[in-house]
Amino acid sequence: MHRLTLGDFELTAVTDGIYRLDGGAFFGVIPKVMWSKRVQADEANYVPVGLNSVVVRTGDHTVLIETGIGNKLPERLIKIYGQPAQLLDNLAAAGVAPDDIDIVINTHLHFDHCGWNTVLRGQERVATFPKAKYYVQEGEWQYAQHPSERDGISYMTDNYDPLVKNGQMQLLRGDQEIVPGISVKVFPGHTQNMQAVIIRSGGKTACYISDLIPTRAHIDLNWVMAFDLYPLQTLASRKQYYAEAIPEKWLTIFTHDPEAPWAYVEKDEKGKMVAREE
Ligand SMILES: [Zn+2]
Repeated sequence: MHRLTLGDFELTAVTDGIYRLDGGAFFGVIPKVMWSKRVQADEANYVPVGLNSVVVRTGDHTVLIETGIGNKLPERLIKIYGQPAQLLDNLAAAGVAPDDIDIVINTHLHFDHCGWNTVLRGQERVATFPKAKYYVQEGEWQYAQHPSERDGISYMTDNYDPLVKNGQMQLLRGDQEIVPGISVKVFPGHTQNMQAVIIRSGGKTACYISDLIPTRAHIDLNWVMAFDLYPLQTLASRKQYYAEAIPEKWLTIFTHDPEAPWAYVEKDEKGKMVAREE
């Protein structure tokens, strides 16, 4: 468990465990001779992929950003990706009970980002965090109703439709403050409506950048995942993000880094991106 203080806020990184993705898909057009210097693939070319959630305690609110894969994956997907399902145990170890969470923010609705939104109770899908309001972009939810053949496998309606139906999930239109100090900002690229979560307190800023920059190995502008629907928009969004985050020394929080949930991204003397750990 990683924990730090950001101004008056406390940030705790909790993981749903490690799953696996094909290394080629994870690094897009980057050749294996290059990415394999950063990440070790197994004999089937899988690489380990983290599932980092963050709990932000603001004093007034307990906010959970992202909910991992969860425990409802169908057997055929468990065979491909695995299903670690560790988030609730790790939250408990961090002293956080499901009832403590009053806000859940999903950056987008791919199954590896909102899996613990709901759990099965009998035949019913119910909120894992019963007292929480959940937030996602309306455009992302609309898209999730009719995803393309390319990414339909990533959307499981069980993770969000029951919450939209019972009014527990709020659908946002664009950038917005959720609670004082915590706001969302849309960065298109991975999906059209993926949102990052910006956390500000005491003059310090952290940003849960989600799949715009999934791990420390992806910080170079063109190291873009093959999953991204709009890779050229990913480039533009990364430029926009770095233009603010680097000079203002934001802490970048990485969804899928299996080792370090956060780091400062900097440019060295040669203009190369480097991730400096907290
Ligand atoms: Zn993802």
